Amino acid sequence: MQSMIPVYQPDLSGNEKKYVNECLDTSWISSKGRFVTEFEQCFSHFTQSKYAISVANGTVALHLALLALGVGPGDEVIVPSFTYIASVNAIQYVGATPVFVDIEAGSWQIDVELLAPLLTKNTRAIMAVHMYGHPCDMVLLQQFARQNKLFLIEDCAEAFGAYLAGQHVGTFSDIATYSFFGNKTVTTGEGGMVVTQQPELEKKIRHLKGQGLMAGREYWHDIVGYNYRMTNICAAIGLAQLERAEMFLSRKADLALYYQKQLADLPLSFQQVKPNVTHSWWMFSVLADTPEQRDDLRHHLTIEGIETRPLFNPVHKMPMYAAGELELPVTDNISCRGMNLPSWPGMSESMLMRVIDAIRNFYL
Ligand SMILES: *Cc1c(COP(=O)(O)O)cnc(C)c1O
Repeated sequence: MQSMIPVYQPDLSGNEKKYVNECLDTSWISSKGRFVTEFEQCFSHFTQSKYAISVANGTVALHLALLALGVGPGDEVIVPSFTYIASVNAIQYVGATPVFVDIEAGSWQIDVELLAPLLTKNTRAIMAVHMYGHPCDMVLLQQFARQNKLFLIEDCAEAFGAYLAGQHVGTFSDIATYSFFGNKTVTTGEGGMVVTQQPELEKKIRHLKGQGLMAGREYWHDIVGYNYRMTNICAAIGLAQLERAEMFLSRKADLALYYQKQLADLPLSFQQVKPNVTHSWWMFSVLADTPEQRDDLRHHLTIEGIETRPLFNPVHKMPMYAAGELELPVTDNISCRGMNLPSWPGMSESMLMRVIDAIRNFYL
């Protein structure tokens, strides 16, 4: 019996253990300690951001982004329905209303052409989500946001290492967020980062994430804040991960290229990469011709010991967000035909060949 090939597995074979042991040996295990600061500094450097603020996970990073911008009850935030649930939940946390926009069939990102009709007098912000690591069209989004006086937020959870014309995602907006969940390109187990280029926003985010503690005054809190801090242990793992991030990214890009080449003649299609874009290839995904074929292929791969994941289900179909008659044809079409293939940096050649052979055998 061959072993199961998981859809994802983090590579923790660098300095992770050494740095975590340092936390234990020195007893710096909470949210103070050298790794928190170093991780934030290295992260801001890597992602070309002025300020990086570490937090407990990617979901609270989004919550803080919206809080810091003052988005709240009565406001509408435009967001794709084709995203992970956290993007939309964060909008709900602050009492604002998500307004769903459809995506482009090729890149699977927000279709900017569809934004104008969604505007109302209550629209406050757009949340761009770089799905699976392909950047949204941030130039057009910036233009649209400026023209209509909207905040722009980027959910970069899947897009660490993604660039538009050489500029790292997350630097095109007021505030951007990252996730370091176990299957993200850089992981801390659970963790997240908020980045911004604006010093006032940095201050606000730090204030909010640390219980609203007033600077220079002990146990005095001047706003209702949150405990959204990252631990030194998580930051230690994150720092070790960052040391090898370039390798993770280039390995993922190789995997994606190889999958595309080896599967090119099959009735499968891929996310189309736009010009001037560096895709981060968080998860390599394929679309089958029909939902039935997708399900059959997934079943076949499971039997062959290969784990896959369906693409995200449209959020506008979920009970708490079900928006009556709302039709997002591209989202619906892509989401039910797609799946993620194993795409982790430590995958061996032979594992990759096993996945490709199994897919080819399905279509024989
Ligand atoms: C992973 C992810 C998040 C949030 O992640 P957590 O760290 O699990 O809270 C948010 N948005 C998107 C698009 C994601 O993929």
